[in-house]
Amino acid sequence: MVVINDDAHSDSYEFMDVQVKTDDSSCLTTVENPTLITTTNHQVVKLQLNATSSFHTKCCVCRENLRDHAVKISSRDRDFIFFSRNIWIPEGARCCSGHLINNLLSKEVVDQIKPFSIRYQELSSSDVQLLLSKAQTLFKNGKKIFSLDDPRDLNDDEYCLLTSLSRDSFNDFVQIISSSAIRPSCNRSIRTAIGIYLCKLRLDNLGFGHVTREDVIGGGTTAITQELMCGGNSTDIPIIIIDGTHLYIQKSRNNEFQRKTFNLYKKGSLLKSMMIVTTTDYIVACIEPFMSDFNNNDAAIMKDISLRNTDHVLSWLFSLFLHNLK
Ligand SMILES: [Zn+2]
Repeated sequence: MVVINDDAHSDSYEFMDVQVKTDDSSCLTTVENPTLITTTNHQVVKLQLNATSSFHTKCCVCRENLRDHAVKISSRDRDFIFFSRNIWIPEGARCCSGHLINNLLSKEVVDQIKPFSIRYQELSSSDVQLLLSKAQTLFKNGKKIFSLDDPRDLNDDEYCLLTSLSRDSFNDFVQIISSSAIRPSCNRSIRTAIGIYLCKLRLDNLGFGHVTREDVIGGGTTAITQELMCGGNSTDIPIIIIDGTHLYIQKSRNNEFQRKTFNLYKKGSLLKSMMIVTTTDYIVACIEPFMSDFNNNDAAIMKDISLRNTDHVLSWLFSLFLHNLK
C-alpha cells in the first residue's frame, strides 16, 4: 500500500519500505475542496526493489565483463522479468548477446537471472500508471489460459468437451484417483495430470481413421438433415459439417510466432483448428493447429488440408464422393 503524504512540513515520508517524496520545486494542483489536496505528476515514489546490476561494463545476467557483442536489455524483457520474477532491471542495463534468442532473453536466462542488490528506485506517478496498465494487460492475457486447477475456470460444457466428463463427474473422478498412490509433481498437480490424460484419450478417439462412413450414415445424421439435404428419399449419403474454430493462447515471446498467431479480428493470440462434425454433434476429426494471421481463413485451411491429405482426408472424402456419384 502506498501512502502519499502531502504535509507541507515534511519533505519525505516513509511507510513500509515505500517513500513518497514531495519535490520542493513542484507546483501542486489544488482542487476546490481545501481538505483534499491532490498533486499531479510531480510526485515521486521511492520503491525498494530487488534489482540486477546496471554496470555498463558487466552483463546483468551472468555478471561477466562485457565484450564486443553486448546488447541493451529491451523494455519488453525488463517488464517481463519484473512481473514474472519480481526483479527490476535498471534502464540501460546490458547483457551478452548470447543470452538472446530472436532479440528476447531466452527462457533459461529468465529463470536464471538473479537480483544483485536492493535498489531504491524512484518512479513518477506516470511511471506507476504505466506499470499498472502493463500489469492489467498481463493479467488479461493470463486469464485466457485455462487451468484445470482453478475449479471456476472452466464451465460444465468445456469440461465435457475436453475430458468427455461433466465437471461434477470430473471432480468425483479426481477424488477417487487422488486416494490411490498417485503423487503430484512440482509442475503438475494430480488434477491437471488426470485432465491431460483424459484429453489425450479423447484425442486418440478422433480422426477419420476412428469412424467409418457407414457409422456416419447410420448414427450420425439427423432426420431433418436427411430431409433438407437429400429430399428424405436417400438414407445412404453421409453429411458432414466442416468449420473452423479457435483457441486463445498465451502471447508468445517469439516475435515471429506472435505475429503469426495474432488475430486482428479477435484482437488476441489464438490458434485455429478445423472441426469436422456430423449433424448429431459427433466430432469426426479435428485438424490443427493453424496460425491465425490473415492468410489462414477457413478456405485456405481447407485447401491446405486437401493438398497435404491430412489424416488421409482425401480417401475418406473420395469414397464418399464416388459413392454419391453412383
Ligand atoms: Zn552474460
